[in-house]
Amino acid sequence: MSNPRVAVIGAGLGGTAAAALLERSGYDVTLYEQAPAFSRLGAGIHLGPNVMKIMRRIDCEDALNNMGSHPDYWYSRDGRTADFLSQIPLGDFAVKYYGASYLTVHRGDFHALMTQAVKPSVIRFGKRLQEIEETDRDVRLTFSDGSVETADIVIGADGVNSKLREHLLGAEPPKYTGWVAHRAVFPASLLNNKRYDLCVKWWHNDRHMMVYYVTKSLDEYYYVTGVPQAHWPEGVSMMDSSRDEMREAFAGFHPDIQHLIDVSQSITKWPLLERDPLPLWSRGRIVLLGDACHPMKPHMAQGAAMAIEDAAMLTRCLNEVGVSDYANAFALYEANRSERASKVQLVSHNNTWLKTNEDPAWVFGYDVFNVPLTSPSTKQKTAPVA
Ligand code: FAD
Repeated sequence: MSNPRVAVIGAGLGGTAAAALLERSGYDVTLYEQAPAFSRLGAGIHLGPNVMKIMRRIDCEDALNNMGSHPDYWYSRDGRTADFLSQIPLGDFAVKYYGASYLTVHRGDFHALMTQAVKPSVIRFGKRLQEIEETDRDVRLTFSDGSVETADIVIGADGVNSKLREHLLGAEPPKYTGWVAHRAVFPASLLNNKRYDLCVKWWHNDRHMMVYYVTKSLDEYYYVTGVPQAHWPEGVSMMDSSRDEMREAFAGFHPDIQHLIDVSQSITKWPLLERDPLPLWSRGRIVLLGDACHPMKPHMAQGAAMAIEDAAMLTRCLNEVGVSDYANAFALYEANRSERASKVQLVSHNNTWLKTNEDPAWVFGYDVFNVPLTSPSTKQKTAPVA
């Protein structure tokens, strides 16, 4: 393969990171996204030092440091009494011991910044992948607008309902976990000058609320919950929620939580979906990353981080092995990602992360570019999530 063509399907956080990293390694990459244009989803996201070290490689680290809130600690508090359950040092501690900042940012701002790290000619919007045909020489991709493209290798970064996962393993919807997440972003001016923690998770029994600022100037505050709900209509990606629904879900919680609910202007609700670890991450010229292969509950705030780490490890393995030997590159990639991704899936499922004082170094200290590589033959078997 003289100048291999790499197609990335899905310009979410994982696919965009993959395109930016592959482009910088000199690959002929095209990123296909079904949406007609980029949109700014109203939500926050944590970016740990493990992600920030990857952002350094695509020249986004400084801009993110200027964009996001830098929490001094991750606090866990009792949902009713506000007593501290844990205080995990971040801030300067993260820079010193994990090698980069810990940030909380607006997800849309982060996505926009990463999109700018990819040449505009690399991204094709309005391209919904519909059919995949593998031949001896390449992969033929048919999109819903009728266009057909070919590629030497194809990266499925197309999220929890991945078409490429379906092509490799057959149709199977992800599992609804029985939990939903409510999300709201609102101006911090509504907090009435009361000082709120930069980053705090409020816990009680079977539910929680994670709250943090999403800008460096601390002018936007955000919460995301985890609340049990027995059923969710299949195929519905999100719906509107309300202050009344939130008041019912968080009845008896601390007055600070009631105030956050009172000032929420628009609240949405999302189903939390999972899959058990897949029996394979690649076949032939096709390889998966991110939610396409390991969707998880967001309770470690590491789902996108795992997608971005996948993108970086896949790029590293293609560089190391050579793209013409894609089968071995994909095997090396899976051997170096599946155990970590499955462990993060499991801890996220159990929702125990940082509830008490624990050492988060195995997550935050990870450096995808310098971690010693495991060979495919020594790979561990992974257990189901639940
Ligand atoms: P996605 O972001 O889902 O991107 C997939 C892309 O593929 C989309 O743009 C989609 O339009 C496109 N696509 C799909 N099908 C096709 C097709 N057929 N053709 C072309 N394009 C297609 N993670 C964190 O790291 N930190 C957090 O704080 C955090 N908070 C979260 C809160 C909630 C409530 C939820 C639900 C998740 C949270 N996550 C968080 C998890 C994170 O959002 C996901 O793990 C992450 O977005 C996965 O990235 P991805 O690129 O694999 O998939």
